[in-house]
Amino acid sequence: MEQSPPKNSSVTIIGGGLAGSEAAFQLAERGIKVNLFEMRPLTNTEAHSTAFLAELLCSNSLKSMDITNSNGLLKKELELGNSLLIKIAYETKVPSGNALSVDRDLFSQKITEIIETHPYIRVIREEVSEIPDTDSPVIIASGPLTSQKLAKKLEELTGSQLYFFDAISPIIDADSIDYSKCFFKSRYGKGEDDYLNCPMNREEYEIFYEALIKSERVKFKDFEKMAVYEKCIPIEELADRGIKTLLFGPMRPVGLEHPISGEKYKAVIQLRKENIEGTAYNIVGFQTKMTIESQKKVFRLIPGLENAEFLRFGSVHRNTYINSPKLLEKNYKMINKNIYFAGQISGVEGYVESIASGFTASLDIFYRYFEKKDLSYPPDTALYSLQNYVSTCQDKSFNPSNFHFGMLSPIDGIRDKKLKKEKMANRALEKIANFFEKLS
Ligand SMILES: Cc1cc2nc3c(=O)[nH]c(=O)nc-3n(C[C@H](O)[C@H](O)[C@H](O)COP(=O)(O)OP(=O)(O)OC[C@H]3O[C@@H](n4cnc5c(N)ncnc54)[C@H](O)[C@@H]3O)c2cc1C
Repeated sequence: MEQSPPKNSSVTIIGGGLAGSEAAFQLAERGIKVNLFEMRPLTNTEAHSTAFLAELLCSNSLKSMDITNSNGLLKKELELGNSLLIKIAYETKVPSGNALSVDRDLFSQKITEIIETHPYIRVIREEVSEIPDTDSPVIIASGPLTSQKLAKKLEELTGSQLYFFDAISPIIDADSIDYSKCFFKSRYGKGEDDYLNCPMNREEYEIFYEALIKSERVKFKDFEKMAVYEKCIPIEELADRGIKTLLFGPMRPVGLEHPISGEKYKAVIQLRKENIEGTAYNIVGFQTKMTIESQKKVFRLIPGLENAEFLRFGSVHRNTYINSPKLLEKNYKMINKNIYFAGQISGVEGYVESIASGFTASLDIFYRYFEKKDLSYPPDTALYSLQNYVSTCQDKSFNPSNFHFGMLSPIDGIRDKKLKKEKMANRALEKIANFFEKLS
């Protein structure tokens, strides 16, 4: 059960990655002592290659700096909140147009130096294999490649199986769909008209199929291959099995005749609403390992999606995460416990989102336990929406997500998409700036 931490107690953080490093710094800067456990270099993960804290696993890009891009907005909010990692990213920036790309070694090296020399932080290079038994708050930020021993303990703690694989379908901005080519209907007319269906005739299907089997793909890493479950098979790999396979799988046309004309189709692709407002749709069953460029090219062949704008691209990768909607309350805190989950393990997706969750968890700990204050971000900000997604997502099977504009309530009456996003981004920034000002 949740208890008050003893006075002058320190916070324990497991994992010195992106989320853990940000969280440690935010707490330490507020005068809270932190014990930060990092198992590398003594015990390594399958993908990290240095002993640095906050190592970037793959790309060296923290994506767009434009606030009308979801990643750009989230970064700007973090910048307004004085995030260490975003500050260091700007200090170690390398030229890459409008994206915030960094010199990866310099980035991690600088963060490691700051964390290791901070008077309030003790870095302990040790694998944690038990959940600390302490009244003080704990942040579990052990990442997508959490060590097996800890994963086992987390299953005991959460009373449920962890997810070890992540199959993500692309999400499309609802404003970019051509509705004249699709229709709303549930299969066999069962239930409400929950799905938006994009039908294909034989010729359209054959063109789509050809593009799919010839698509450019991101290779599975060796350690990922073993873990691909049948239900997570990427759409293009299903296509590789034969021209008919998709027609018995995610492109099954049965029960999806046109609701008015009764026309039958060769194939139907179903889109499902991502939120109540219907501002975003995901393509059902279309997890993929195609490159981003291939995803754009191939998925824009789907009738109705010719001008699709992607709020999130599809992917399939090794990822350890908990069933957050069942386990967490707001700000990544476990219900009835002094334990927080931050980073990929909490069900956020991506570098900047991992930083954001570590940032939020640490602020919540500081205000809740040490200042006895409630920390509630204003709605319609990126920081609010991300923590809200992981704790309240209603999907039957919870999938991690990056932050996207579909998580913000829309602004009605503006047709121009760019302008609409600009207004939504400015609304978010004004709200979060006021919030941080009042907080300090
Ligand atoms: C292979 C791979 C590539 C990725 N590439 C990208 C990308 O290009 N762009 C992007 O936006 N996102 C990417 N991601 C997703 C995600 O953004 C990163 O994984 C990000 O580093 C997650 O941050 P984190 O803080 O949750 O975990 P991490 O940064 O991985 O930090 C977790 C830390 O915990 C440590 N640890 C684990 N178990 C223990 C233990 N028992 N005791 C002590 N320490 C422990 C680990 O050594 C690690 O340092 C990738 C993920 C994977 C798996």
